[in-house]
Amino acid sequence: MSALPGWRELPRGAVILEPGSSVRYKTASWRVLKPVIDQDKCVRCRICWTYCPEPAIVELDQPYTSRSGKAYKVMYAIDYDYCKGCGICAEECPVKAIAMVEEVR
Ligand code: SF4
Ligand code: SF4
Repeated sequence: MSALPGWRELPRGAVILEPGSSVRYKTASWRVLKPVIDQDKCVRCRICWTYCPEPAIVELDQPYTSRSGKAYKVMYAIDYDYCKGCGICAEECPVKAIAMVEEVR
């Protein structure tokens, strides 16, 4: 096991030393609940994408036709590498298309 760095070797907190470095820090391990999008209920309003603080909601160029026959050009999906399970997306979704379910690892 390698030794942990001493406090003098740690970078200062709240300082971004390298733009875009957050992609290296996968935050999914914190999650106890995970969001699941019901593609048939989703009306593609993009509100979840707007509100997600990570952002862990991605817009995919994938057409989808709902069970009721509505054709969409995109789908919204969760990037489970970065989703923290905060539930904001489920709270903000106007049609309640996102369910928070227990994470099973
Ligand atoms: S649960 Fe939180 S982090 Fe995960 S997709 Fe929804 S808003 Fe983003
Ligand atoms: S907020 Fe709800 S309806 Fe809007 S894109 Fe997200 S999942 Fe779909």
